[in-house]
Amino acid sequence: MKLRLLRNAEQGGGLFDIPPTGTVTPVGSVLDSRDRRFGMNTSSTLYWSTLKMYEECPQKFVWSKGWDQYDCGYGPGERKPKPEQRSRHHAVFGIVIQQAIEDMYNLELYRDPKNLTARMLEIGEKEFDRQIEKPRNNINYSEAKMTRAEMWDLCADGITGFVQTMKAHRFLGPYAKAEVDLVGWIDTWSPIGGRADTIIKREDTGVTIIDGKNTKYKMQYTDPDQLRWYALLYKLLYKVMPDRLAYVWYRFPTGLVTTDKEGTETIETGVEWVEFDEADLQGLAQRALEAKAAMKAEQFDPVPSPKVCNFCDFLTVCDARKTQRAANSAKRNKKNQITEITEAKAGFADWSL
Ligand code: SF4
Repeated sequence: MKLRLLRNAEQGGGLFDIPPTGTVTPVGSVLDSRDRRFGMNTSSTLYWSTLKMYEECPQKFVWSKGWDQYDCGYGPGERKPKPEQRSRHHAVFGIVIQQAIEDMYNLELYRDPKNLTARMLEIGEKEFDRQIEKPRNNINYSEAKMTRAEMWDLCADGITGFVQTMKAHRFLGPYAKAEVDLVGWIDTWSPIGGRADTIIKREDTGVTIIDGKNTKYKMQYTDPDQLRWYALLYKLLYKVMPDRLAYVWYRFPTGLVTTDKEGTETIETGVEWVEFDEADLQGLAQRALEAKAAMKAEQFDPVPSPKVCNFCDFLTVCDARKTQRAANSAKRNKKNQITEITEAKAGFADWSL
């Protein structure tokens, strides 16, 4: 699906194509070889995932996306080839569930409530088969520690769970759309964008922006600033704040009873409401401008950390992470030796003699 943007007269006027990377161009114009070949540059639309990636590790960003004339070893502006394609089973779960939800909203399947869940499961299963067969997803069942059937069950539970939560929280309304493209401008030169999973407008609850998550644990690998980013885009586009932001947990639908390690039972609500205010949005806009300025200054040093590196496609070829691991391991060994000496029962020598 193509992302398109309608600019007002001050911004150049007309309809523009927004590529995932590269320059925003008028619809129908042919990209020159420079635009096709090169990664991001100063005119590129900045997305939340790109900002996050840059902030976590600038090197990961430039290797993944490429930047203007910057050469990371494969020619000016070229991206670094990924050493291996990891199994994308986690991504597939999200894609499958979201496809069923997208059709529910955008094809208005909710108008037939009796058959809604069955129809969504049908859509989900078709998408599941399609995604599993895609070579680029490189599904590795042993890495996933799941069979194909178990994977589908997980997706099916996510779909039925969403319907449960959607009904409980009345995530329907006169305007209820999924996969909504939002592009706004922080200033004349700084387009930012994103695709909201779902936006709902109702008289009683106003504008609600939802993002669905299929994580095993709530709020793990989930950054509330992602939803605030959508709020910023909404504000830039429509000049008003949305009213509510929520994560919807596919694995923890409304009414599900869960028990924590201490044995405490919780009846799940299915959602996590995210607080936000004008200052949050200003802070995010500032972060976007700062990241763009740093990219322009070609600040692409690596920032290794286990939390980020373990999910990085370049982990096996990254010298910065290898050096950090070696240093950490040397530190651990040093510590271990001291422990041995201190705890040794024999071999004491008094060097003061
Ligand atoms: S492995 Fe870590 S340090 Fe290296 S590029 Fe990836 S995130 Fe950055």
